[in-house]
Amino acid sequence: MTLLTSTETIRSTPLLGQSLAKLTEWVQQQDQPSYRGKQLHEWIYQKGARSLLDISVFPKQWRSELAGVEIGRSTLHYRSPAPDGTVKYLLRLSDGQIIETVGIPTENRLTVCVSSQVGCPMACDFCATGKGGFIRNLKTHEIVDQVLTVQEDFGQRVSNIVFMGMGEPLLNTDHVLSAVRCLNQDVGIGQRLITISTVGIPGRIRRLAEQQLQATLAVSLHASNQYVREQLIPSAQQYPLEALLEECRDYVRLTGRRVTFEYIVLAGLNDQPEHAIELANHLRGFQSHVNLIPYNPIQEVDYKRPSPRQIQAFVAALKAEHIAVSVRRSRGLAADAACGQLRASGLQPAAH
Ligand code: SAH
Repeated sequence: MTLLTSTETIRSTPLLGQSLAKLTEWVQQQDQPSYRGKQLHEWIYQKGARSLLDISVFPKQWRSELAGVEIGRSTLHYRSPAPDGTVKYLLRLSDGQIIETVGIPTENRLTVCVSSQVGCPMACDFCATGKGGFIRNLKTHEIVDQVLTVQEDFGQRVSNIVFMGMGEPLLNTDHVLSAVRCLNQDVGIGQRLITISTVGIPGRIRRLAEQQLQATLAVSLHASNQYVREQLIPSAQQYPLEALLEECRDYVRLTGRRVTFEYIVLAGLNDQPEHAIELANHLRGFQSHVNLIPYNPIQEVDYKRPSPRQIQAFVAALKAEHIAVSVRRSRGLAADAACGQLRASGLQPAAH
């Protein structure tokens, strides 16, 4: 590599998101001893350095030469805590775009719901993110940053990650996969505790399976037949339910891991006993698990959340068909931070 290219690489690629080996190579390119790579790694991933100037163990002279090299952290634009302990964050990226991240504490866990895109092109009818359109994919460091931000704000290690914030992760597969690698190897989060949620993009679930990741796959099904699914998810028109389920079966075959099917329950639309039976017929003998999500209200549409009794009846109908099922507890509703309620507009920065 010529000096010019290496300098350019140094200036243009954020350090956040890079492995220990890459960071070590980077310090060596600048005639620094290799142990500085380990120091850099520790300061970025454990000590929360936001600028190279923060890294007090580095020689002053070198630090001043590095002025202008970005670590790649985003800035906190707004923090919105909900009474249940959930915190929603709006983060500003280097180009001024705003994304959302949610920290969800439970008994002994801290889960981060991360965004994979600015906005989302899928336009699912029940989802606030989809109403705002799509702007761009997130880069690896912009995904990893979300997890570090929540970890630092809570002062507690993040245990679980769900790619269920803004965006469709499988339309940004390369950056999502490299973020998963980094979160696993550099931040230290178990792959099995990382869930990638997708509405289904033809061919991409198979591609994910080929990576032999240990991460968990969640598929946003939301309907027990093609007709209802198309009403809720425009992209379903180009991707029939049968084809999606076939790809999920391949995933189980290739990885030996079960698939979680997410199913938003919408009153009168997909919550009847016949829907439960139809769903069970698709999933019988399929190594999977159904996660029912009671609908969280958004402004633009007037879907209704079924009553708890109706949801329990749906659960019972699935159980009677021997389908593994759980109901997701809504967290963060009061901060508009619950599933499907993420949108980056309308909030002004507040002093806090
Ligand atoms: N595009 C991916 C990742 C976004 S995930 C996907 O669709 O899976 C967002 C999760 O929240 C999904 O399960 C999604 O279906 C769910 N969700 C979206 N809008 C919702 C709403 N209004 N109420 C409850 N859950 C919602």
